[in-house]
Amino acid sequence: MRKDWYLSIAMIDNFIHVLKGQLSTPKKVVIIPHKNPDGDALGSCLGWKHFLDQMGHFCTVVSPNEYPKFLDWLPGQEDIIKYNQTEDVAQKLLFEADLIFTLDFNSLGRIKPMDEIINNSKGIKVMIDHHEQPEDYADLMYSDPSIGSTCEMVYNIMEALDVSKINSIIGSCIYTGIMTDTGSFRFQSTTSITHSIVSNLLDMGINHAQIHRNIYDTYSFGRLQLLGKAITNLVKVEPLRAVYITLSQDELNQCEFKKGDTEGFVNYGLSLDGIKLAIIMIENTQESIVKMSFRSKGTFNVNEFARKHFNGGGHFNAAGGASFESLEFTKEKVHQTILEYEDQLSSI
Ligand code: 5GP
Ligand code: MN
Repeated sequence: MRKDWYLSIAMIDNFIHVLKGQLSTPKKVVIIPHKNPDGDALGSCLGWKHFLDQMGHFCTVVSPNEYPKFLDWLPGQEDIIKYNQTEDVAQKLLFEADLIFTLDFNSLGRIKPMDEIINNSKGIKVMIDHHEQPEDYADLMYSDPSIGSTCEMVYNIMEALDVSKINSIIGSCIYTGIMTDTGSFRFQSTTSITHSIVSNLLDMGINHAQIHRNIYDTYSFGRLQLLGKAITNLVKVEPLRAVYITLSQDELNQCEFKKGDTEGFVNYGLSLDGIKLAIIMIENTQESIVKMSFRSKGTFNVNEFARKHFNGGGHFNAAGGASFESLEFTKEKVHQTILEYEDQLSSI
């Protein structure tokens, strides 16, 4: 059982009480995932949208930008408004919204350049999120870093509001986020509660095997070749228990890179016996950044590591960040920074 289970109940009780009041009359609702949304961000937004639609509200999901092809089957994804494509439509919706839900992020920097509009909108802001160290922008907040996915949190809320409205369409969205954010139920954050939620979803008739195939077995040829390059580029920081991978823009171009193609690559570093820290650096010349992902096993805190050195953050064992230097420079900085953590990275 989760250590802070009782604390979480108290928090969700108060959250539900206030939310029920807000949802007692039909509302115009906008639901926002973070930029470059993943399975948990889109799954939670769409699951929540379908649920609120059934309660008689008027909901739109507004994403800061596009999402990978392996998510383009999610029920309702075809109606998502992309801010970077139709800024005027998105702005109108945000200015007119009574309620704005921000899901799977806790810092407005993660939805740039939409952050300014949110700050200026009259709508009540509600955060539902499981990342560490939430910012203070929301009027109402359900934040619990001990829960493995935002989808699990959204399920908790739906169950408390009206369990009879959860159907297999909502269930498919929720299952997607739980599955992707728990690494298919293998991360420490997977609890008996996670499994009992999934058990309910299976009873509702979701097709879990199909969802798994949609997400994980839809690689293009180029994507698999890119994985080959990533693994060839893997460097071990001897004598420490850390590895890193780089992918240059040239390498991405050679493999006809599409958004989402590098998802999960960083985990291959952690699959090595005895490795406690894995980092991937991906060059993006168009945005002049190197996007980074950090993963760890056990007691190495990558949220702190990403926050302190690479303009990022996230969870204890999974975080992201960015460098605004060249790939070569970033690689050298990563190498040197890892060496500073010799005491934590030299023993099992
Ligand atoms: P990923 O490496 O899969 O992109 O992200 C790992 C985790 O860190 C996710 O929970 C994601 O939301 C978070 N994350 C990714 N990039 C950033 C970032 O630039 N800043 C912060 N604060 N969190 C990030
Ligand atoms: Mn998440």
